[in-house]
Amino acid sequence: MFERVDYYAGDPILGLVDKFVADSNPNKVNLGIGIYYDEDSKLPVLECVKTAEQRIADPISPRPYLPMAGLPGHRLACQNLLFGKDAAVLQEKRVATIATLGGSGALKVGAEFIHEWFPASKCYVSDPTWSNHIAIFEGSDVEVGTYPYYDTATSSIKFDEMLAFIAKLNKHDVVLLHPCCHNPTGMDLTHAQWDELLDIMKQRELIAFMDIAYQGFGQDMDHDAYAIRKAVALGLPVFVSNSFSKNLSLYGERVGGLSVVCPTAEEAERVFGQLNYAVRRIYTSPPSHGGRVVDIVMNDEALHQQWVGEVYGMRDRIKAMRLKLKSVLEANVPARNFDYITKQNGMFSFTGLTPKQIERLQTEFGVYIVSNSRMCMAGLNVNNVDYVANAMAEVLK
Ligand code: PMP
Repeated sequence: MFERVDYYAGDPILGLVDKFVADSNPNKVNLGIGIYYDEDSKLPVLECVKTAEQRIADPISPRPYLPMAGLPGHRLACQNLLFGKDAAVLQEKRVATIATLGGSGALKVGAEFIHEWFPASKCYVSDPTWSNHIAIFEGSDVEVGTYPYYDTATSSIKFDEMLAFIAKLNKHDVVLLHPCCHNPTGMDLTHAQWDELLDIMKQRELIAFMDIAYQGFGQDMDHDAYAIRKAVALGLPVFVSNSFSKNLSLYGERVGGLSVVCPTAEEAERVFGQLNYAVRRIYTSPPSHGGRVVDIVMNDEALHQQWVGEVYGMRDRIKAMRLKLKSVLEANVPARNFDYITKQNGMFSFTGLTPKQIERLQTEFGVYIVSNSRMCMAGLNVNNVDYVANAMAEVLK
């Protein structure tokens, strides 16, 4: 009966975790999956989240279904963070926002919406991108293409090629962009480059789909949202999928949001209705616990401040690890240039290591990085950074 069902080989990144767990090397280091670990290699529970959890637990309250779009406070939190609290676009009620099951859920609902209402549109993702971008859009029957983005040979963005490619796309094609902390390369456009790119997208009448999973890990909350706000200012149609998995360290709660910026409030209401309908057809409504944490932390002035500080603490620790990794590598492999390590933003570094070198890191040193050479900097700490740097130096020699 089910013999013709295709075998699923598993997700390459999640599969790496299983391999890591099974490895008996006492020095093993997991730099595969995009998760932030603290100085003691532990998944942190943020202090602001602890406070919110205590408020939720006392008194323990009933659990009704949430609205299809999630908690109003969760939705408001997404809007304020992405567009700025006093943004005109919010006052004009031109943004349709729903709470989603993480950033992945936002991408899925967004892809379903595109498929339904822009059936002729193709979606273009950066080469390379987070592999699930392609899977999610294709899974919703949206045709996916790639635009030039990263040049491994020079560890830089092929900006001119990217612009030239995007200038040839068709009206209402979707361009999936990473406003900050590009996954997997860590290389982001400058503000001037965003201005140039978004101008072209406006002229070509393209749709910007901004996927922001690491807000606060790049420069700061506002700087990281520059591309989103600029696209809004130019009057582009903008979809934003955002994730709280990393910046609230709430991976398993599945909290995120999908926002669609429309030309008028009336259109935003229509879009909001269709987003609700998409949710109804897939999972009816989101779970409540994570949404309540988001609501409490983001909408309480003091907790919000504390949260921002905690995110910047994570950001700074990663930056310190980048510096340390770079300095050990420079000392051990003087012939090579490692400037890319500190030029990249966010959790990831695209190392450019070859499949053979990646394999050696794993088998000889128990250092796990993704097969496309992406290394998660947030898995480094003072106890393992020298070990990882020396292992890298060894395979690079
Ligand atoms: N977009 C990007 C670029 C990501 O890196 C991730 C997480 N790896 C997501 C979306 C999905 O986020 P979530 O885990 O909240 O579904």
